[in-house]
Amino acid sequence: MTTDNRKDRRFSRRKFMKTAVAAAAASGTLLAVSAQGMRKPESKKRHKRPSHPDPDLLLVNGRIHTMDAGDRIVSSVAIKDGRFVEVGYSNRYNHGNETRVIDLRGRTVVPGIIDNHNHIVLMGNRPGYHTPLENAYSIPDVQAIYAARAAGVPRGAWITTIGGFHPNHIYANPADPLSGRMPTLSELDAAVPNNPVFIEVGFTGPGATNSAGKAIFESQGIAVADNGAMTGNNPSRALLYLRQTLLNPAERRRSVIDAMNYAASVGVTTHLDQGAFQATNTAADGAAHEDNFTMHIPFLEVYGQGDGIVRLRINFLHMESDPNTPELVQRLKNAFPFFGDDMVRTGGIGEFIAQGTSVTSPFAAAAQKVAQAGWRAEVHSLGRRQTPSSNPADFELEIMGFEAANASFPGIVRETRWVVAHVPGITQEWIDRLQGIGGNLSLTGWQYLAGNLPTSTVAPYAGPPFRMIVDSGNRADGIHSGMSSDGMQIAPMNPWLHMYYATTGLNTRRVLINPGQQITRQEVLSLYTSRNGWFLQEEDQLGSIEEGKLADLVVLNYDYFSVQDDDLKKIRSVLTVVDGEVVYNAGVLRWHGDRG
Ligand SMILES: [Zn+2]
Repeated sequence: MTTDNRKDRRFSRRKFMKTAVAAAAASGTLLAVSAQGMRKPESKKRHKRPSHPDPDLLLVNGRIHTMDAGDRIVSSVAIKDGRFVEVGYSNRYNHGNETRVIDLRGRTVVPGIIDNHNHIVLMGNRPGYHTPLENAYSIPDVQAIYAARAAGVPRGAWITTIGGFHPNHIYANPADPLSGRMPTLSELDAAVPNNPVFIEVGFTGPGATNSAGKAIFESQGIAVADNGAMTGNNPSRALLYLRQTLLNPAERRRSVIDAMNYAASVGVTTHLDQGAFQATNTAADGAAHEDNFTMHIPFLEVYGQGDGIVRLRINFLHMESDPNTPELVQRLKNAFPFFGDDMVRTGGIGEFIAQGTSVTSPFAAAAQKVAQAGWRAEVHSLGRRQTPSSNPADFELEIMGFEAANASFPGIVRETRWVVAHVPGITQEWIDRLQGIGGNLSLTGWQYLAGNLPTSTVAPYAGPPFRMIVDSGNRADGIHSGMSSDGMQIAPMNPWLHMYYATTGLNTRRVLINPGQQITRQEVLSLYTSRNGWFLQEEDQLGSIEEGKLADLVVLNYDYFSVQDDDLKKIRSVLTVVDGEVVYNAGVLRWHGDRG
């Protein structure tokens, strides 16, 4: 990309988003845009620069797994104007003055990872300098990650880790007494002497802090043990205090850029966000609470400034117990599904369409409303049947609600691709029923962090039953499934951890908790790439490296297909390309033709 080209895109994206935000503000509805003509992706304006025959970017000498229908592996790709223009080597494109050429030196390349269910919008609204600990395997790892972070932030600024982390993860060696616990105050002080620290596990803790953080929290009446541990409602009170004192529009935008940079470093180039629990601005709020009506604004501003480096797709979460679901009704009337440009676009209703799933909840009625409006519904399931005679599990109630909506509006589930996510306890019978109406499954490896051996023989609670679902998908007209992280509260975003779990069945403590359900590396990678374009309704644009598709790819530090199982956890990007531009560069690859 030339500088001119980049400026041109920045201008066009800013113009698009400014208009979109202004329209949203005018109507009082986020992302509601009135002008039909705006559907055309504005980023294409960058193509108006004086044309030249050269590709913008040429990657050569790689092992490029295209994940196309034939699982073709090629050595080179050429990219122009944000799309793949040649996949596989030929002499058609010789690099010229305008081309950046990168010698991959045999490295493995995969399509940009698509996460069809996560919460990156929450991650981009964290107070303080949120620092993922999902790649720490020991207390010294935590200390090293924190020390590196402290070196890059202002003295005295808060360093936080809110969700996406569990002490189980610090379990590199079961014989190590430092394993499987939170870092202590003195360990955090040793790593970060000059900045207050706050760590919170999951939605509401437990938490931990260092001496600087302890002094500030105690001045607010928030209790901290001598060793830095925070329990009870103290982590939630601490989080409320940090949100109220640290968050402002500029800090949120900075946090958005941090979240995007982290995503690019682990190769996740597209995120289907699934919303938040609606904030109450009290200590009842946990890590997963935010304001569903304003939390996208910092993201839209970053995209508007041309600084968005990963793609965002936005679902709208509605969790009302009011039987009339008035907010959902207004959303369906006043917003547009699957509307936006190639970088940021709306989606459907999810991961909740109502509070609860039982027959007395508004769930079934909400499903009817979503169907009537012609939108997609995405819901989540965490349950299983305890015994064959016990009450129906959540997925059974959800699939019955989908069936009823589909009966009222025939074909809606298949046409708009309704989804049930996570499904740790789903059974073959219910996979088949969902498949019968054209529904889809999003598979999540989140039990990797905290899951245990199944205590019931009815369903493998660790789950999901990856093998059963992938085999079901391999039948004629089989069920469509894709992979997701459900990061960033109860699970890591890092897709390679979820691929480790799906292929080994092992949790963080290397206990086999999902026996008989392992799938192959090729299978789980396809669930995270080629199969996931479907969930965006963009399978023609994203998910594989093919001529004409949007140019997103990840160059890996190790060969995903041949490393030992445990080393899957160490896989990172060394170079991430989104929309034909290098958005992350670990500095190990050299290139020529770079004009900065
Ligand atoms: Zn979720």
